[in-house]
Formats: sequence, structure tokens, C-alpha cells
Amino acid sequence: MTGRGMTGRAHAADVMNRAAPEHHTLDAEIERIRREARRRFGSFVLDVANPGSHFRNKECRPLDNRVFEQAGGLGLMGFSLPPEIGGEGRDKLAWGVVVEEVARLSRDPGFAVLLDISVEITELILSSGTPELIETYVPDLVAGRRFGVQGAYESRDPYDYHSTARLEGDVWVLNGAKRFLAGARFADLFVLFLRDEASNDMLAFLVEKDDPGVTPVHMDTMGMHTMGLGQVILHDVRLPAARLVWRADALSELNTYARIRRTMSACGVLGALDGVIENCVNALDPRKRGGRRVLEYLNVERSVGEMRMLLQSARASVYRALDGTRSPDRDPYFDEYATVAKHHASECALRVGQLVMSLQGGEAYMSAFPWERFMRDILGLISGQGSQEMLLLQLGQRTIVDLEGKRVREEAAERAVSKLADGWWALHAAAHGGGEEYADAVAAVVSAAGLDTSDTFDAFEPAARGAVAALLERAHALVAAVRAGRPPEALPQGPEGLFEGRLARLAAGAWGLLACGVANETGLLARLLEPCTVREAAEDLLPPALAEGLLEALVAASVVRRDGEGRYVADEGLERVLIGGPRASAFTARLRRALDGGARLRDGKPVAGRESLTGCGGEAAALADVLVNSLLGRLEGLPELLDRPGAQVGCAAGDGGRSAVELARHIPFVPVLALEPEPVTLGTAGGDGEIRIRVDDGTGRTAAGFAARDFKEAGGFKEADRLALAWLPASGLPDPEQLRAAVGTATEALLPGGWLVLPCPLPPKRPLGAAAARLDLALAGGRTPADGEVEGALTAAGLGHVRTAWDDTALGVRLIAARRPA
Ligand SMILES: Cc1cc2nc3c(=O)[nH]c(=O)nc-3n(C[C@H](O)[C@H](O)[C@H](O)COP(=O)(O)OP(=O)(O)OC[C@H]3O[C@@H](n4cnc5c(N)ncnc54)[C@H](O)[C@@H]3O)c2cc1C
Repeated sequence: MTGRGMTGRAHAADVMNRAAPEHHTLDAEIERIRREARRRFGSFVLDVANPGSHFRNKECRPLDNRVFEQAGGLGLMGFSLPPEIGGEGRDKLAWGVVVEEVARLSRDPGFAVLLDISVEITELILSSGTPELIETYVPDLVAGRRFGVQGAYESRDPYDYHSTARLEGDVWVLNGAKRFLAGARFADLFVLFLRDEASNDMLAFLVEKDDPGVTPVHMDTMGMHTMGLGQVILHDVRLPAARLVWRADALSELNTYARIRRTMSACGVLGALDGVIENCVNALDPRKRGGRRVLEYLNVERSVGEMRMLLQSARASVYRALDGTRSPDRDPYFDEYATVAKHHASECALRVGQLVMSLQGGEAYMSAFPWERFMRDILGLISGQGSQEMLLLQLGQRTIVDLEGKRVREEAAERAVSKLADGWWALHAAAHGGGEEYADAVAAVVSAAGLDTSDTFDAFEPAARGAVAALLERAHALVAAVRAGRPPEALPQGPEGLFEGRLARLAAGAWGLLACGVANETGLLARLLEPCTVREAAEDLLPPALAEGLLEALVAASVVRRDGEGRYVADEGLERVLIGGPRASAFTARLRRALDGGARLRDGKPVAGRESLTGCGGEAAALADVLVNSLLGRLEGLPELLDRPGAQVGCAAGDGGRSAVELARHIPFVPVLALEPEPVTLGTAGGDGEIRIRVDDGTGRTAAGFAARDFKEAGGFKEADRLALAWLPASGLPDPEQLRAAVGTATEALLPGGWLVLPCPLPPKRPLGAAAARLDLALAGGRTPADGEVEGALTAAGLGHVRTAWDDTALGVRLIAARRPA
């Protein structure tokens, strides 16, 4: 049977299309509204608003404001205003499409913008909540009988206006001038933003053109001549208190206004662009040059193509902003999409203007044709509605704050998990029966946890100690059962109600860590990247009651939250450790090390290998990623050395090849020489990288002890190894002498100019966290070098450029780097 017969498919589109018959695209919705706008308002624009536009513009005469009354009669003014005040209540997406369509048909680019300004002014008045203002002005504005505009601009910062308002008794006295208002020459009302002389707060007032002391003044501009751009001068204008639009903080309200005005300006730009492109192509249609129609020249096709591309990309950003106006999550003051839309549409318009000028040749510069006017008008977009430059500044500031906030949330979330480990280790240390091996580290934890002061200790003995031991017994039994694939039906009893005071807090942390470790190992935590019910979270993973118990414990530990619908979702800061990848492996390794270390302290099992050391095993991928993607360019000369024929990367992690594999995956094509205490089989784990294993001489040294002697003898690095980079996790070197020896042999093996990089533990600053991290590492068979010890060893070996090249407090690791002099 042929493929076609088997599947009934005949064309690529049969497979590649993902059409869903019930799906309606945003474009389809917009197209429907566009048709409605054309049907309802098209002839009004073409027959009423357009005639005379060319000469009005030439004579710098503003629109006749009676045209707005006709627009009101047609329902244009009330299209998006609430039904309670006689509007149609359509959303802002629909209104934006109407503004675009009006601008497309209009010979007057300012007309659609003015319509929108009056609509937004109506909304500002509605938002005042002052019945007197609303009843007096709103009906006239909706009907288009009166026309309102906004004045804020003074060529100063918005918090620093010269124009002021002063309260005298119950009358406000306004003085000053607003220097740039669209529609000032024919508006009946102005919403003006002024500084309160008493408080310096920004206030807004509704001012009528006929209020005594108000003088609208004509202002000459480069373009937009029919828009009635002008100024408003205020001289001892006395207003009743009811004319105050909001009681305080009008700046925030101005930002809300700017947010929607930016979007609507951009809609006007779309319409103007669509119109000018069509007119431009139509005007070129009869034109011939060199005996051919210019529209057939490749360069002309290309320019028209560019204009179309600019229009479509402007549409994409503007429609997205319009769609965003319907989202309940929209920022009330700063709308990133609106800002992008205004900026991008304006830049597109400026470029289209340039292309039109170029395509139309000499006619482009003649006032009798519309092109030079288009060019002059759109130049107003450079500063109107927030200057292009300021929009970028705002976007930049916003982006930086958002990214910094994200980083802070991520670090805080990971730190919160590591803080749970404080309680875990405190309980294990307190319950530890004695034994020499970890005595100092255990005592340090008990002391840092405050469990050794006599009061606490008395309270702790003997019943509490028994309860702690029993709690840990239940915790480790749970881990063992889950790992053995026999999870219990429910979470065993936790610490609630068992302890008091400090011990209760530590026990709660310990239980949180247990829940986190189990949820992470079983995959339950990763499921919570999306909000889940208990059933969804548990499905095919764990018994529901156990999952629910774990989820509640995670909620209590603030690692997970329950949303309004009772679904569980992980703290958003944990996303980067739950989606997979190097950071997730490091997170998992850390939790596993705590669970395993706790078990080891209880039953004294020996250390299995070096995989749990800081910077090794599960943490290696994250560090190799940092090495290549953050540090490579900062370790001077390293990229060139790695390119050198015969150069190698040396890896002395000795963690069963796991670090070597990660280095080989991240630095393919350069062989990795891995020092291992025993032979290892790696398969194809290293990808493109070649890994050469060098094993020690098999004299039965402990894993931790192998490093120093092997470097010198059978299995260490040798001078002939030509290492461009040597990777040497410091936590695996048992004492300062062996650290110095390992650094010395690695240095001899480096090429001149080669780098030695040592992953080192970075304990938290809080005393209990630091003591717990030391105990944790000691139980994994490692050690935390003293402050300055590693740097001292590097300097003693004759290395230069010694520095902490990278650190991460959430991971608890830093990379110390040093360079062999060339
Ligand atoms: C066609 C048109 C219509 C308008 N209609 C109205 C209207 O109806 N009502 C109204 O109130 N206003 C109106 N304006 C004015 C408009 O709001 C302002 O021109 C606009 O906000 C820019 O303010 P600005 O002129 O003070 O320029 P600035 O804000 O001073 O910007 C100029 C440049 O200075 C730099 N700059 C300014 N501040 C900073 C800063 N904090 N940090 C770093 N750099 C900075 C930037 O490079 C910026 O590009 C209109 C303007 C035009 C062109």
C-alpha cells in the first residue's frame, strides 16, 4: 500500500496545517469590525469630514467642530463608551479598529486622533466619580455637542509644572500656560494638569474655554495643520471645587490616559499607512520611465514590499496592544504593548514616508500632492504621545527592573529551599548520638541552631530528643520507601504539635525539606510548573493522599502555593530549577545530598563516591555551562589556547567521569583528560567530546585521598598533558597540603597562559546555614577550604590573575580561577 493510500494525504499542507475549524483568529475578528466600521462610518468620513481638507490644511485652519456633532449623531463618539451614558459599550479593540479605519479613509490624519481624544476625555471625567462633572459634561461629549481635549505639556517634567492651582476658601485659582494641546483651537473643554501650590501634588481640573481668564491661542506647527494645535493660557481662573477631576495623584491618572492614547495614536498611524501605501501605488500606476511602467521595476516592487512589511509589522504590534486592553492583568499605568505599538508604528510610518518620498520623485516635494504633507504630519509622531526616545527609556527601565526582579525571585526561591535544609541538619545534628567522625561539624550545627544553650537543651531532653529521632525515622523511612518504588498511601505524621519555639520552627523546616526532596525526586514538584489539582499532580506518580500530604507540606514551607481555585503551583522563582537542564540537575543533586547525608549521619554508612561533592556529579553540568557561556570570554586567552593543536582540558573531579562528560559536552572537539580513582565506562555520554581516562595506580587510597598523590605519580596530571584548562573541584581535597600539591601538579601540566579553575563551596552567610553546609559537605566526603586558602595555594604555585571569576549564592558554589603566566 502506498503512503497516500495509508493516510489519505496528498499534499504537504495536509500534514503541515493545523487548522481548527472552530478557531477564530484575531485578524478575522478585526476584519469583521473593520467592515462594520466601513459600513457605518465610511460615508461620513468620505462625504462629510474629507471635503475641503486639502485647503484647510494649506490655510492652517482647524477642523470645524460641528463635524464632531455629526459624528456623535452617528454613534461614533459613543462607540466604546459605557451604555449607562448612552454609549455602545464596545471594547477598546473594536474602538481601535474604528480609529484605524477612520484614519485610513480620512484625508485628515488628525481627525481620527481627535475623535479618540474626546472619547478618552469623556472617560477621564467618568473616572472622577463626581456626579456634577459627569452630569454637566458627559452627555454633551457623547453627543459630540462639546469637544474636550487634554493639556499637560509645559516642556518640563510632569511633576514640576510652573502652572499651579491654589485653593482659596472653596475656590481653586489656576495660573499658568499649557503649551501644546491637540484641538485647543476648537475645543470647548480642557482637562488640564497642574501643580498644587500647597502640596506640590499634581491635580487635574476641568476648564471651559469660556471660563473667565482662559485664553486658547493658535500655535504654528510644521504639520497637522487641521488638528487645531494650540496653547491655553490661564490667568487667575477661578473654579468651584467640583471642577477638580480627582482629589490627588493626577499623575497616575495621566499615565493611565497615556497608556490608551498611545495605543489609539498607533491605530491612527496604521490607517494612515494603509491609506498612503494604496494611494502611492495607485499614483504610480500610470507612470512610465525608460519605456516601462515603474511598477514593474524590481526596485519599486521591493520598496512597495518594504512598505507592506512595515504596515504588517506595525499592525502586529498594534493589534497585540489592542488585544491586551481586554486583559484583566494589564498594568494600570504602564502598558508595555501600548508603548511598543506607538513606538514601532511611528518608526514604520517614518520609514514609509521616506519610501514614498523616494518613489514619488519630484512630485513628492510639491505641496499640490499629498506626500509632503504626509511626511510633515508623521514627523509629529517623534514627540507626540511621549517622545520616541522617552518610550525606549521607559521600556529599558522596565525591562531591567523586571529582569532584576526575576533574578531576585529565583535566588530567593532557591535560597528558601536551602534554608529549609538548616532545620533538616539542625535536627539531625541534635539527634546525633555521638561518634568522633563528624563531631566538630555536628557540634557547630547544634550551636548555630541555638540548641546547646542550657534552657533549650533542658527543654529538649529527653522527650523532645526522642520525638526528633522518631520524626527523622519517619522521614528516612519515607525516602527509602519512595526510592524503592513502594510509596506509602499517605504522608507520615509530621512535626505539627510535637515541639515548641525554636525547635518547632526547625522541625517545620526539616519537614519542608523532606517534602521538597521527595516531591523533586518523584517528579511531583516539576508537575507544579502548571497549576494542578491533587489528582492531576498525583496521577501515575504517587498515591493521592501521599501527594496531598506532600503538597500541603510544600505549601507550609512556602515552596508551593494554592491558587484561588484550590490548585497547587510551584513558586514562580523555582521555574528555572524545575524545567530541566543543568540548573535542575544541580538543584536535584543538592536536595539528594541533604537526604542522603542525613541518612548517613544516622546510620554511619560510608561515603559512596565523589559525585556528591560541591561542583561534582549533578552540579557539574551547571558549572560547565557557566564556564563556557559566561566565563570563557573573561578568562583571557583561554579561547585561543583551546584552539591550539594538541591542547587538552584536564578534569580532576574524579566523580566517575560525570564532570569530564559535562566538560566534553560543553567543549566538544577538545579532548578531556579525566583523572579517576577507578576505571569508568562512559559510553557515548560525552557527545562530540573525546574523554581520555587516567586511573590511579590502584594502591587502595580513599577516594578523597587519591587526588594529591596521583597527580604526582601514576594517575595525576603530567607536564606533557598540554592543558589549556584544568578543572579541579577544591572540596575533594582533604587538607591544605593536598590542595597545594594538587594545584602544583595541575599548574605544571598547564600550557603557558592556561587556566586553572576550582569549583569551591560558598557557604551561606547565616551562621546556621554555614554550619549546616559544612556538615552536609563533610558527610559527602568533602571539605570547605578556609577563607583565602585556595587563593593562597594558587598564588604559591606561581599563578597570576587569581580571582573569584563567578559565584552563585543560591547554588552555594564559586569558581576561583588563576592563570599560568605565559
Ligand atoms: C503632534 C503633537 C500633539 C501633541 N498633543 C498634545 C496634547 O494634546 N496634550 C499635551 O499635553 N501635549 C501634547 N503634545 C506634547 C507632547 O506630549 C510632548 O511633546 C511629549 O510628551 C514630549 O515631551 P517634551 O517635548 O517635553 O520632550 P522631552 O520629554 O523633553 O523629550 C525630548 C528628549 O529629551 C530627552 N529626555 C527627556 N527627558 C529625559 C529623561 N528623564 N531622561 C533621559 N532623557 C530625557 C529624550 O532624549 C527625549 O527624546 C503634543 C505633541 C505633538 C508633537
